[in-house]
Amino acid sequence: MDLNQLRSIQSVDLIPKYWYNILPDLPEPLPPMRKPDGNVVNPNELEAIFPKSLVQQEFSSTRFIEVPEELVALYAEIGRPTPLLRARRLEKYLDTPARIYYKYEGVLPTGSHKVNTALAQAYFNMIEGIERLTTETGAGQWGSALALAGALFKLKVRVYMVKISYEQKPYRRILMQLYGAEVIPSPSRYTNAGRSILASNPDHPGSLGVAISEAIEDALTHPNTKYSLGSVLNHVLLHQSIIGLEALKQLEYIGEDIPDYIIGCVGGGSNFAGLAYPFYYESIIRGRKKDTVFIAVEPKAVPSMTKGLYTYDHGDTAGLTPLLKMYTLGHRYTPPPIHAGGLRYHGVAPTLALLVKNKIVKPIAYHQTDVFEAARLFAQVEGIVPAPESAHAVKAVIDIAVEAKKKNEEKVIIFNMSGHGLLDLQGYRDYLEGKISNYEPESIDLSYLFK
Ligand SMILES: *Cc1c(COP(=O)(O)O)cnc(C)c1O
Repeated sequence: MDLNQLRSIQSVDLIPKYWYNILPDLPEPLPPMRKPDGNVVNPNELEAIFPKSLVQQEFSSTRFIEVPEELVALYAEIGRPTPLLRARRLEKYLDTPARIYYKYEGVLPTGSHKVNTALAQAYFNMIEGIERLTTETGAGQWGSALALAGALFKLKVRVYMVKISYEQKPYRRILMQLYGAEVIPSPSRYTNAGRSILASNPDHPGSLGVAISEAIEDALTHPNTKYSLGSVLNHVLLHQSIIGLEALKQLEYIGEDIPDYIIGCVGGGSNFAGLAYPFYYESIIRGRKKDTVFIAVEPKAVPSMTKGLYTYDHGDTAGLTPLLKMYTLGHRYTPPPIHAGGLRYHGVAPTLALLVKNKIVKPIAYHQTDVFEAARLFAQVEGIVPAPESAHAVKAVIDIAVEAKKKNEEKVIIFNMSGHGLLDLQGYRDYLEGKISNYEPESIDLSYLFK
C-alpha cells in the first residue's frame, strides 16, 4: 500500500450511505418479542420508551436503510471511516501464513464502537423533538458514548451507572460528566426499581440489569424523555453495520477477498454484528464465500452462548423489558466481576442467538487470564492496548493464526477491535501483578423462567 492508497482508504467516500439490516436475510423468521402473558409485543407499544423512527427500524424488513446525510457528515467529523489495519507484526511474531486484519474502533472520541449507535439514536430522538435521554452503563463505555451524543445534539442525558463501577472506575464517570451528562449510581433512590432493591440490600453493588430497569422507569415517568439502549436490539445492530460495510470497501480497495474468518467479542452482540452481518450478507446471502467462519467470543464467566439456554427471557433484572428469544443465563444471573465490564450481560441479541442456533455463528469462550495474555502480546507487538472486551477477540485470532501455521494454510482473518483499553489499565495492572482470577458458573438454574 502506498501513501496515496492509505489516504484514500481514510476517505469520507468509504462511509456507507445505507445501514445493513439483517432481518430479511435470517435463516428463519426472528421470534417476536413477547409479553409475560405470552402475547406478541405490538411495535407501537415500544413507542412509550423509544422514538417512532427507531421503533420502525427495530421491526423493519428493508434490507438497506438510509443513513441521514447529517449523520454521515457527523461520522466523518468524529473520525469515520475507522482504519482497517493489518497486524503484520503479530503475524510475524506468530510466524503464521495467515493475514490478520482488524477494524480499529478505538480511534473514535470515547474509545469504542458505541458512539456509532449513540449518535444515530440521539439524532432520531432530536428529530422527533425529544429533549432528554436516559440509559444505563456498566463500565461506562456506553454511557460516555451517549453523553457525547447528547452534547452534540443538545439533549439532556441521565446515566444510571452500576454502583460498583461508579465507585471503582471513576474515569469514564468523569468523561460522562465532562460531556455534561448526569451520572447516578445504581441502584438509586430515584426509581421504584432502585428503592425496592436497596430496601432488601442497601449495599447492593448494582448490575446492568438493575440499571436498565431504573433507566426505563425514569423514561416512562418523565415528560419528553426516551430511553436509549447500547446493544442487543435490532436498531442498535443496524447502526453498527457501518463497521462491516466500511471494512468490505476497505478490503476491496486493497484487493483482499472476503476473509475466511470474521471474529468479534460479544457482550450484547452489537460490535460483533456490526462487523459480521455485512460479511454474512456478502458471503452467505449473496453466495460470494459460503465457507466463511463467523466466531463470536465471550467470557467463560458469562457464557450465555456456550452454556445458556435458547429461550424467552427479560433483558433486565427487574423484568420490565419485553421477553426476547435469545441465549440467556437468566435475568437473575449476577455476572462475576471480570474486567471486561462490557461483556457482563446475561443474554445476547436475538438475531445473533438465531444465527448461533442455526450454526452459522460459532461461539467460543475464554478465561480472562488467557485473554489478558493475548492482549499483552498484542500491545507489545502492535502498540495498541485492546479493551479487555476486544481482547477476547484477539485471543481467538491468535489461536486461529497458530492453527493456520500448524496446517500451513494461508487463511485471512478479520476481527473487530471494538475499543482501546487505556481507561482499563487497572485491569492490566491486576494482570501484571498476578491478581486476576478466573470464574466459571458451576451450573445454571433457569427453572424460574418456566414457572
Ligand atoms: C460495550 C462493549 C462491548 C460489548 O458490547 P457489544 O454490544 O457486544 O459490542 C465490546 N467492546 C467494547 C469496547 C465495548 O465498549
